[in-house]
Amino acid sequence: MTTFFTPATPDALPTAAANLFEPELIRRYDKSGPRYTSYPTAVQFHDEFGEAQYHVAAPRSNEAGGPLSLYVHIPFCDTVCYYCACNKVVTKDRGRAQPYVDDVVRELALQAPLFDTGRPVDQLHWGGGTPTFLSDDQMREIMQATGRHFELKTDDTGEYSIEIDPREADAHTIAVLRELGFNRISLGVQDFDPTVQKAVNRIQSIAETRTVIDAARAEAFHGVSLDLIYGLPFQSRDSFMRTLDTVIEMAPDRLSIFNYAHLPTRFKPQRRIDTDDLPTSAEKLAILGGSIERLQEAGYVLIGMDHFARPDDPLAIAQSNGTLHRNFQGYSTHAECDMVAVGVSSISQVGDAFSQNTKDLIAYHEAVSAGRLPIERGYVLTPEDHIRRFVIVSLISHFRLDFAAVTRRFGIDVPSHFADALAQLQPMAADGLVRLSPNSVDVLPRGRLLIRNICMAFDEYLNPEGLQRFSRVI
Ligand code: SF4
Repeated sequence: MTTFFTPATPDALPTAAANLFEPELIRRYDKSGPRYTSYPTAVQFHDEFGEAQYHVAAPRSNEAGGPLSLYVHIPFCDTVCYYCACNKVVTKDRGRAQPYVDDVVRELALQAPLFDTGRPVDQLHWGGGTPTFLSDDQMREIMQATGRHFELKTDDTGEYSIEIDPREADAHTIAVLRELGFNRISLGVQDFDPTVQKAVNRIQSIAETRTVIDAARAEAFHGVSLDLIYGLPFQSRDSFMRTLDTVIEMAPDRLSIFNYAHLPTRFKPQRRIDTDDLPTSAEKLAILGGSIERLQEAGYVLIGMDHFARPDDPLAIAQSNGTLHRNFQGYSTHAECDMVAVGVSSISQVGDAFSQNTKDLIAYHEAVSAGRLPIERGYVLTPEDHIRRFVIVSLISHFRLDFAAVTRRFGIDVPSHFADALAQLQPMAADGLVRLSPNSVDVLPRGRLLIRNICMAFDEYLNPEGLQRFSRVI
């Protein structure tokens, strides 16, 4: 196993919720910032990057070799959740699925020749939208095409996951997915409170959710992950704790608790949420604090950036042994994989480059039908980007920056190269968020929830206007 980062020192690890959650500090540092699923962030992507540049990046990826991570985006949803900020197509017309499946199969056939055969697919993820908007046969068609073009693992050792909307799946669906090779599921829950569900137009019963989880366990899925959102209309600390208690009883292996970012000017569905119905920032903080406490009592560990996991989950293990990574799918145990993404709006990370497909279904169809990759924009990392990406991933995944590791990899002297960034961290050191030493930056327990702020010191693209594009830290 390759160790990429030095794990945090024991005294930098949190022991109790009280150490993690300092309301006064969180309030003071609460500002907009990237979630760093990539560095640089997608804001830097530009339309001078296209198919030709991708054809340069793919051979570089082959030179490095190694396994691949595949992402498939299915954009359709039957109904719209008002909080949604995803790239999706809301439609009740299931007839729209087959032409899209045909296009995805075409794109897989276009992508595959660019990558050396023999590169195993260690990680596969289907996201959306709602992947199970597709029929069983349509899902089968995409998986079979994937297997024809890429080296899918058939021994169940890959990490093959799919996002599930429990309103669009039942025990039969779960059995089909297992047969197709999926072994992890991630379920959107958000909140079980009926008033909250009505306000966000997502009515989803506890029974529907439980049915899917029970089916996944019966089918020997390796892991179940649940997503919750705090900051939705009509939520209170008490109501959210009731949801959390139900969720804890369902015993997911991983849990994400995302902060709702209300940006109605950017995301149209959010205009149907009345700002007056949103919890106050004090209430949101109380929800967050209560959630951390409750989850820690239940034995979960904070991985960082809204993610919790059982201590024996591969994410928690990867964090403790220094192999955790972060990419467009969030935290990952597959640091070494290039990510090939297919479908509208999907983002690949191949060799030195990021590339994003068009978000438009018609443009997507026209491109793949004409034998062109549907790339709309992208970005080639500079040598400096590589250094900063390493630093940010190290901090966000392991809460530690080991200067010697950066020097070994990039041949730079960290204190002089990052003099400005380290100076920016001084006030955070004074507030007990980080410990600065001649050889390292260690994120202390009270800095864990503010890890975005700490990473932002190393981001050379941030400016006040650009920050408005991102959600708030808390
Ligand atoms: S939250 Fe998920 S299910 Fe709801 S509209 Fe967005 S993508 Fe579709």
